[in-house]
Amino acid sequence: SMADLNLILLGPPGSGKGTQGERLQEDLDLPYYATGDILRAAVKEGTDVGTGAKEYMDRGDLVPDEVLIGIIAERLESGEANHGFILDGFPRTVVQAEALDAKLVELHRAITAVIQIDVDDDESVRRLSGRRVCTEGGHVYHEDFNPPKVEGVCDIDGSELIVRDDDKAEVVRHRLDQYHEKTAPLVDYYKTQALLNRVEGSKDPESVEESIHTLVSTLSLEEGT
Ligand code: AMP
Repeated sequence: SMADLNLILLGPPGSGKGTQGERLQEDLDLPYYATGDILRAAVKEGTDVGTGAKEYMDRGDLVPDEVLIGIIAERLESGEANHGFILDGFPRTVVQAEALDAKLVELHRAITAVIQIDVDDDESVRRLSGRRVCTEGGHVYHEDFNPPKVEGVCDIDGSELIVRDDDKAEVVRHRLDQYHEKTAPLVDYYKTQALLNRVEGSKDPESVEESIHTLVSTLSLEEGT
């Protein structure tokens, strides 16, 4: 219905999309589709999608559009997102954004808002270089800014914390280049559709969460929920 929240989190690697996406999911209790997590799970399971995606991910390149469009279309068509969703890491190209728009039109749905979490490259690099993720659920920490209670162990599921292969310095630079070249054009794409809401992402996670919470509350009021 018109009252559903169909949200997109947009931002460079290290902007805190994963951290904020998890919190938003708990807050709103909506299906949360983080395409990086979905792809990493596919790699771990050794599916065809995972095997095909791995080489791109290891290089810090984007996985081909049709793969991601297929992954998201399947979830939107399944019915599980019929009362709203949170997308994190998709779309990442204009081609993906156009495919999403077409799919939503077909399903008589529409994006409620795009939340742009804005941080500069230096901050992205600082965040990614200290980032640790858990091997079980992909929960995200930072060795200085957001350490786990017990070093090397996930607070939430107790699994081991590791450095992602693509968080190594040389790959991080390439991921940021890819972001500027292929994903940053989405800022204007969604501005044109009057869907863009910018949040200052360089503050601490609690402040960013608060900004997003305020924004989503306003959206809910406007949508009449
Ligand atoms: P993330 O965890 O969001 O940083 O994603 C990790 C990696 O997965 C990216 O560097 C890409 O290789 C791939 N990936 C995730 N989402 C997409 C997407 N929407 N389009 C293309 N590649 C993606």
